[in-house]
Amino acid sequence: MRVTSPDWIIVGAGFTGAVLAERLASQAGRRVLVVDRRDHIAGNAYDYRGPWDILVHRYGPHIFHTNSKKIWDYLSRFTEWRPYFHHVVAHIDGKYAPIPFNLNTIEDLFPRRMAEAMTQGLIDTYGYGAKVPILRMREEGAEQLRYLADYIYRKVFENYTFKQWSLKPEELDPSVSARVPIHVSRDDRYFQDIYQAMPVDGYSAMFARILAHENITVSTSTEFEAVRGLYPGAKVVFTGPIDEYFKFEHGALPYRSLRFRLFERPGPEAQPVGTVNYPNEFDFTRITEFKHLTGQRADGTILIEEYPEAYVPGRNEPYYPIPTGDTAAALVPYQAMAHQLKGKVWFAGRLGDYAYYNMDQACGRALALFEKQLAVT
Ligand code: FAD
Ligand code: UDP
Repeated sequence: MRVTSPDWIIVGAGFTGAVLAERLASQAGRRVLVVDRRDHIAGNAYDYRGPWDILVHRYGPHIFHTNSKKIWDYLSRFTEWRPYFHHVVAHIDGKYAPIPFNLNTIEDLFPRRMAEAMTQGLIDTYGYGAKVPILRMREEGAEQLRYLADYIYRKVFENYTFKQWSLKPEELDPSVSARVPIHVSRDDRYFQDIYQAMPVDGYSAMFARILAHENITVSTSTEFEAVRGLYPGAKVVFTGPIDEYFKFEHGALPYRSLRFRLFERPGPEAQPVGTVNYPNEFDFTRITEFKHLTGQRADGTILIEEYPEAYVPGRNEPYYPIPTGDTAAALVPYQAMAHQLKGKVWFAGRLGDYAYYNMDQACGRALALFEKQLAVT
């Protein structure tokens, strides 16, 4: 595979790579070659039309949310949106109760008097509307709040986290469990961002538009190794795993992977909300029903179960960097190696930065990298 000498090679056609390619092509007038080892664009956000024409997310459910008007406006050039507020319930003590854990969850799970006292205790301690990470709540509060914190820890976080990461919540960076804080309010929405929506035609269609610029050539089913060194003058952005780029010279960084099981059923929605979490039962963590996310009406429905597993190179995908003190330390020598390539190769994205980014963060990282460094290179 050879194209007219590109100025840039971008490895990975996910959010990070696609946005950078678009900026370099449209704003800096550069010729960009985007390669991805998968046989499609859109990275982990890839979706396709399944039975009943339902949009299926191959790599697990992806719900877009952001507080950044800049990111929202940027992506809105490439898609229309369907407003969507994601709701999650967890199966706890035989009931389906809303997550993030909030005042409604307390009401659903505890006798009335007890629930009233807990609610008052939370409001008195943190103030109405506060969002309290579970690890913080476990450290403080009166006896009754300690009971509640221990309950939430045991019933919502401990087993789910162990399934997902093979670690306890306190062994991970506190930001991980803080993604789903306790809400001292009745806000049942899984995300609270200002902008929450799904691309009307799906993510893959949005990516096709992002990458449609005439200065961009996309080559899927192409390993970086196939083009490494082919265009000596070209600069590189690498959005794959940073340790892989350096051939694991300082040891392999750990990642968590998932196995997905898709299943379909005839008929209307099978679940009351988009996702049901199963912290304490089964080997999977959650089941998501796509029709809720896309708002499609169809005679059938498609659901996806997520089974966490260890990442084994060549066998499955490195979906999650694992945020711990140890991995932060293991990343340092790779960051130093990356620094030595300054001006020639840049690393970015969930795998390139080894950072637990949401889609908007990957997009924001790409926009900032372009503005601060690549635009002037
Ligand atoms: P990726 O999408 O991973 O893209 C990197 C690409 O690089 C891949 O396509 C890969 O094939 C390619 N690549 C890697 N190495 C090479 C190589 N050597 N040669 C060629 N190609 C290579 N975020 C949200 O905001 N909301 C959600 O609801 C949400 N749900 C998620 C659910 C799951 C199960 C997972 C795993 C993630 C979820 N995310 C969600 C996060 C989201 O997927 C990421 O933020 C986003 O995909 C990061 O984009 P990226 O471009 O950095 O990486
Ligand atoms: N979490 C949990 N129980 C839940 C939901 C989340 O223990 O019911 C913890 C778990 O450690 C999980 C983390 O919070 O990995 C972040 O959850 P999120 O839903 O943001 O994970 P993602 O969608 O990125 O997989």
